[in-house]
Amino acid sequence: MIPYGRHSLDKTDFEAVAAALRGERITQGPTVEAFEAAVAARVEARHVVAFSSGTSALYAAADALGLSPGDEVITTPNTFVATANAIVHAGARPVLADIDSETGSIDPAEVEARITPRTRAILAMDYAGHPCDYARLGALAAARGIPLLADACHAFGAEISPGGVRTPVGSGRLAAMSVFSFHPVKTMTTGEGGAVTTDDPDFAGRLRRFRDHGLARESGGWEHPEEAGGWYYEMQSLGGNHRITDFQCALGLSQLGKLDGFLARRRAIAERYARLLAGFPGLRLPAVRPGARPAWHLYVVRIDGGAQRRRLVFDRLRAAGIGVQVHYVPVHLHPYYRRLLGTARGSFPKAEAFYDACVSLPIFPGLTDEEQDRTADALRRALA
Ligand SMILES: *Cc1c(COP(=O)(O)O)cnc(C)c1O
Repeated sequence: MIPYGRHSLDKTDFEAVAAALRGERITQGPTVEAFEAAVAARVEARHVVAFSSGTSALYAAADALGLSPGDEVITTPNTFVATANAIVHAGARPVLADIDSETGSIDPAEVEARITPRTRAILAMDYAGHPCDYARLGALAAARGIPLLADACHAFGAEISPGGVRTPVGSGRLAAMSVFSFHPVKTMTTGEGGAVTTDDPDFAGRLRRFRDHGLARESGGWEHPEEAGGWYYEMQSLGGNHRITDFQCALGLSQLGKLDGFLARRRAIAERYARLLAGFPGLRLPAVRPGARPAWHLYVVRIDGGAQRRRLVFDRLRAAGIGVQVHYVPVHLHPYYRRLLGTARGSFPKAEAFYDACVSLPIFPGLTDEEQDRTADALRRALA
């Protein structure tokens, strides 16, 4: 089975991890900070806090908002459940806004219609690695004085060019906090891992505290310095152990050095799919908006003709050894969210139509032309 996504590791990665394992500290050591600094330089953000997973990073970002019961955060139904879960975990209510049918990311007009006096943030997601509409979402958030957050787990390495200036997703100029995942299927990996990028020092401080049980370990941040002794640390908020190890960050540094190569390969595969699949009847290919340079975490095609037809095409592709996937079962159709939000089929028609049509084809740096040809051929036959 050709998988839809796969990590790319080589000898330099293995050696980087082995070297880190020989270090004095294998967690909470210098490689975590070195990785954070390298990610900060790459995405042009002032602060980066690395986490044990993209999910932990999302939970930390939601926590940093300081939400209270009754607060609302607007997010997309077309995402992995972790996006919405982060809002629930932080004690607030996710308010879903339907998507733009072309890109699969949240539609700014739908967001605007759902802003209330209780809205505390917008949490967008860069579906498939195509940047969401940062310009319009950022303007909406700024007009309300609330932060725009990005679940950019698909989009490490993506860029946009607002006003002709090339800007990486994750930059503090695009969002108050951006969240990345370094799971093996993403554009680069630390095994498990994630990060939040921000220009805001207060958010950065809260993120670090959340990662380490809500503890302030340094004297500058203590609320009760009069208690202090050589043993002293203060728990100021609820956190947990969301730390990443030094050997994972060594892998991250090694992978980061190869990211441009990975992205170039993903972009070449996307262009080649566009050529191979052009003119297939009943098939829609992913769109790229002007000025956007997607990271191509996913290559999502859509099958016209409704849910039953998509099921048929999906099953035929799987039977032909193509490990296609569906991204995603919409958040609001999971039993947990049906109960929490009172949603059902019909609640978000554009997200549901997208779900009923989408199929993710294999895309990862190690995919060969022969495997891609086989995929295109299997798709042509599955559609016939
Ligand atoms: C991968 C992913 C996550 C979770 O990241 P993990 O590193 O697997 O915890 C969250 N949101 C989106 C959109 C993702 O694709």
